[in-house]
Amino acid sequence: MRAFEYTSPTTRQQAVELLAGSWDQSAVLAGGTDLLSLMKDDVVAPKRVVNIKDIRELHGVRFGPRGMQIGALTSLGELADHPLVRQHYPAFGDAVVEAASQQIRNMATLGGNICQRPRCWYFRSGFGLTPKTPEGKSLVEEGDNRYHAILGNDGAALFVSPSSIVPAMIAYGARIRIAGPKGAREVALEKFFVIPRTESEREHDLRPNEIVTDVFLPPPAAGRYAHYEVRQKESFDWPLVLAAVALQMNGNTVRSAKVVMGYVAPVPWVSEEAAQALVGKTVTEQTAQAAGEAAVSQAKPLSRNRYKVQLARVAVKRAILQAAQGKAEGGAA
Ligand SMILES: Cc1cc2nc3c(=O)[nH]c(=O)nc-3n(C[C@H](O)[C@H](O)[C@H](O)COP(=O)(O)OP(=O)(O)OC[C@H]3O[C@@H](n4cnc5c(N)ncnc54)[C@H](O)[C@@H]3O)c2cc1C
Repeated sequence: MRAFEYTSPTTRQQAVELLAGSWDQSAVLAGGTDLLSLMKDDVVAPKRVVNIKDIRELHGVRFGPRGMQIGALTSLGELADHPLVRQHYPAFGDAVVEAASQQIRNMATLGGNICQRPRCWYFRSGFGLTPKTPEGKSLVEEGDNRYHAILGNDGAALFVSPSSIVPAMIAYGARIRIAGPKGAREVALEKFFVIPRTESEREHDLRPNEIVTDVFLPPPAAGRYAHYEVRQKESFDWPLVLAAVALQMNGNTVRSAKVVMGYVAPVPWVSEEAAQALVGKTVTEQTAQAAGEAAVSQAKPLSRNRYKVQLARVAVKRAILQAAQGKAEGGAA
């Protein structure tokens, strides 16, 4: 690992002031479960590391008129054990419990989970977010792309968004607060993820001198929610594909739906097609199947990941059926 300057501010303002205006100058350190691996592998080499763990106000969960406010430094372990998470946001709770391992959840923070970098092996080997051969061809298209994107893959970025928790948060309508030199701003979590077009762009709407400070989950609306993962193995690993679903019902009929897929695109993928296939319908095996088909109707698999189309289709179908069966009912219903 290269030498770096280490700082440990105690307020968010100090933290923002210690961060520089370019990514190679400084980096935020939270639980370190991702950043330290990237530094050890020399994929990133910030000159200054700004440890934010001593900023007390960024820890913990509060429940108020805006719903649940989660400090960015709250660990996944705390969230997994939190009774209000399980009670009011069960599909989010399921996603947290299934992420990584107990040891990693104890260290990993929610802010770090949102901001973690892609697991694409070309990126992790130092070839960047849009890896190319010296002749300008896509390393991913030419190479081993079995875990890469099947949607949103028209450009040069072919990695998949790495969090298995974010899709459930998007299904619940989460927003995040970001602190920067000009004060705080808030964005819908869904809008925080962007597909980089060139190597100079990032996969998040975050500037180098900003930190994510809070996550807001709106007051739980009466609705039906589910989170469904397809994994290669039960033990800790990232899923191959997942789907998170929120259904608002009028009796037995779907009034509105949000269908979010993970590990299919460089961003968490919100499928309008799947939502439209459900609105006005009763959830049955057939309508859930049709929504699954709609979710992958625009998929363009690469040379080695066609199997992910079927996994995504099935994940969406099963998440919808689980939500309709009330596996993870939210709110005061
Ligand atoms: C073996 C293994 C299995 C895993 N399995 C899963 C899984 O199934 N699902 C899943 O979702 N994740 C999984 N992960 C990833 C893990 O959840 C993340 O590494 C973790 O959440 C990152 O949080 P952290 O606090 O350790 O972040 P750090 O490592 O400290 O930071 C990660 C990145 O985010 C930036 N950052 C951190 N906090 C902030 C902030 N508040 N504001 C701005 N930038 C910030 C850092 O600069 C860095 O770029 C796994 C990790 C491992 C090692």
